Amino acid sequence: MQVRPNILQQTLETAITFLYPAQCQVCEKQIGLESVPYMCETCWHDMPLIEPPCCEMCGIPNTEDVCDECVTKPPPYGKLRTIAFYEAALQQAMHLFKFEKRTALAKPLTQLTIEHFPDDCNIAEYDFILPIPIHKKRLRERGFNQATLLANGIAKTTGVQVVTDVLVRHRNTSPQSSLDRAARQTNIVGAFELQKKKVAQNKRILVLDDVYTTGATVHEAVKVLWNADPVEIDVLTLARALDPV
Ligand SMILES: [Zn+2]
Ligand SMILES: [Zn+2]
Repeated sequence: MQVRPNILQQTLETAITFLYPAQCQVCEKQIGLESVPYMCETCWHDMPLIEPPCCEMCGIPNTEDVCDECVTKPPPYGKLRTIAFYEAALQQAMHLFKFEKRTALAKPLTQLTIEHFPDDCNIAEYDFILPIPIHKKRLRERGFNQATLLANGIAKTTGVQVVTDVLVRHRNTSPQSSLDRAARQTNIVGAFELQKKKVAQNKRILVLDDVYTTGATVHEAVKVLWNADPVEIDVLTLARALDPV
């Protein structure tokens, strides 16, 4: 059977409309086939990047040297760096990616991370990236761990290894986003467990997570990881929320 070109075109357009909503998810402007799915070029390029100066340890922006909080209570990691604020295009993209399973966004989010890798966080100096694990029940529900997808994307471009069998989440906690600051801290305690300790022994590890909010998850994961005797643990997160509720 011969298919007329206009039917083919219509089918293609229907597929595109289905795959790509007609409006930018940030500014609601009409969009077509953009290089980043679901948003217009203007919103994507208006990314709220985090620029120095930042605290040398926790990476909180607009701080020279080390912030007061890190002086009083040094964090368990060497340094934490973040690509951009959890706002605007990044917040929308990460929400669509993580909660609405739009995995087409994994690629542009990975590219964003690679393009804006912090100057004082040299990926080649780490033995491996360790994405923060999610519980196997959540993994089954979501179908992917967002941090692992990002880590795999970074690994593909940079050649650094990704390790996912050292730290496991053996307790399924309530989603951190549903809790206030105090509850997040108690919710996460005891959630992680070490598995293949030897893999991390004497290694330099870059822990990767998608969003940094109160730091409770990252702090707990890093604290547990030190029991595997690595020499260094730094943290990289894609986004940072400045006003956790
Ligand atoms: Zn837009
Ligand atoms: Zn600090």
